[in-house]
Amino acid sequence: MGHPSINTSRRAGASYIPRIRVRYFTGSSCDTKKSCPILSEMAKRRVGECVYCGKSRRLTDDHIPPKGLCNKPRPSDLIKVPSCSSCNNGASRDDEYFKTVMVLKDEAGSHPEAVGIRSSVFRGLQMPEKIGFARDLVQGIREVRVKTPAGLHLGRRSAFNVDLSRLDRVVARITQGLYWHHRRSRIPDGFEVVVFSEDGLRDLDTPERERIRRDFVIPVLKNPCHAVGRGVMRYWYASISDQPRALAWVYEFYEDVKFVALVSPAP
Ligand SMILES: [Zn+2]
Repeated sequence: MGHPSINTSRRAGASYIPRIRVRYFTGSSCDTKKSCPILSEMAKRRVGECVYCGKSRRLTDDHIPPKGLCNKPRPSDLIKVPSCSSCNNGASRDDEYFKTVMVLKDEAGSHPEAVGIRSSVFRGLQMPEKIGFARDLVQGIREVRVKTPAGLHLGRRSAFNVDLSRLDRVVARITQGLYWHHRRSRIPDGFEVVVFSEDGLRDLDTPERERIRRDFVIPVLKNPCHAVGRGVMRYWYASISDQPRALAWVYEFYEDVKFVALVSPAP
């Protein structure tokens, strides 16, 4: 069975640019950006390369992980990457879906940030504009038999079908942003990001799953852990081959929901 994958290398014609180019509108005689409202407004209108689409556009700050995964007041350590408004806003529906699935998963359980978000997710689903979204979720709900690993039957419970490719898309995007954050360059042209959720890994053959664990997950977890947003997201990354621009990433949301992302030359 195939695994969900995201190809982010469709940037035909764009050349590899090692550093982000940002320029500010000039022409003011103000001394410092901090004290001058005109300069601070100009700084907001900075123009440069979007880390996602690579186009030179007016830039906004995109937050990693998506802000909605954290309770208010938002933590101050969320990572910011430059994004055009169309890439920033265009991801909001996937981010919303990702947040909803994450906080409803058993694994997120009692994480304090997930508990707070969960009640706002339930309140939000009652809003008229969320009816379509709520209907999709409810239609995906089914009853499953719960068994222990040894096969002991524990009864029935509700579970919901999850669009894994949509979750993977969010993690691929986070990977694009973090690649820029750590490398100060976009993922090179000709490279792709392939994401595996824990559930997606279960769909792979055992030897393939073992290979990913042995070749990527275990070596990456030997590297320093980066924690962002009061433990909402933790991640590790490492080089995975002689190709210095190829990196593997392991993510953990709410300290338990795991993903693996591989950035490597497209076949
Ligand atoms: Zn963009």
